[in-house]
Amino acid sequence: MILTSPIFRKNKNFNLINSFVSLDGQSVINYGDKEHIKKLSENGCFVCPATKQNWKGMCGKECNYCITNKNVCFHIHFSGQKK
Ligand SMILES: [Zn+2]
Repeated sequence: MILTSPIFRKNKNFNLINSFVSLDGQSVINYGDKEHIKKLSENGCFVCPATKQNWKGMCGKECNYCITNKNVCFHIHFSGQKK
């Protein structure tokens, strides 16, 4: 499998984030609407502030958490959420 090759593991400019987190023993996607993200954050996931609508920073610049930690999740970008 190409993503486990030593080239990817050694490259410090490359950050692979798992798109699935564990919730109640199930694997669920780590991005979604407000309700999904609320459920994830209540279960120990960190919500990237750069995906919050009123935050002005960038992930990887003002937010460094997602680069070095596991169990991160993201709001779907301004997807016209009505809630
Ligand atoms: Zn982030």
